[in-house]
Amino acid sequence: MHIQKAHLSFRDPLQPLQAVTHIIIHHTAEDGWDVYKTHEFHQNNRGWSGIGYNYFIEEDGTIYEGRGLHIGAHAKGYNTSSIGICISGNFDVYDPIPVQMISLHWLCKQFMYQFSLDSEQVLGHRELDGVTKTCPGTRFSMGKLRHILSNNEKGAV
Ligand SMILES: [Zn+2]
Repeated sequence: MHIQKAHLSFRDPLQPLQAVTHIIIHHTAEDGWDVYKTHEFHQNNRGWSGIGYNYFIEEDGTIYEGRGLHIGAHAKGYNTSSIGICISGNFDVYDPIPVQMISLHWLCKQFMYQFSLDSEQVLGHRELDGVTKTCPGTRFSMGKLRHILSNNEKGAV
């Protein structure tokens, strides 16, 4: 498994993350949005430099680099110190596709190993203070994700 480059162009130069203390999970809350559609929406409708997420998982499980290890725009108060991973789909309505979860587990484990994080540092967007949205969706169990990730914490990837 590997991370694909999306070759996105950002309006402003990206700044490196200052630290990585958390991984934050999101969904697009839209059907069929890929990394390019999300990038275009964030750039043109939100007026941001480009896609707000650090990494993006497509419906077929392909992992794309968004902002990479640069400061994103995905979670208020956490953007300088977290990696935001967005999964394509609306998990208020249906479950994530198994291939997406396989990719998510792999990607989280890479970063947990690289930045010495444990599973408690992997949060859903909705778990952050002041967030009222359901992101990454009511059908997405953060407890189950953390349980899976805790089985080989900081272990070999
Ligand atoms: Zn979110």
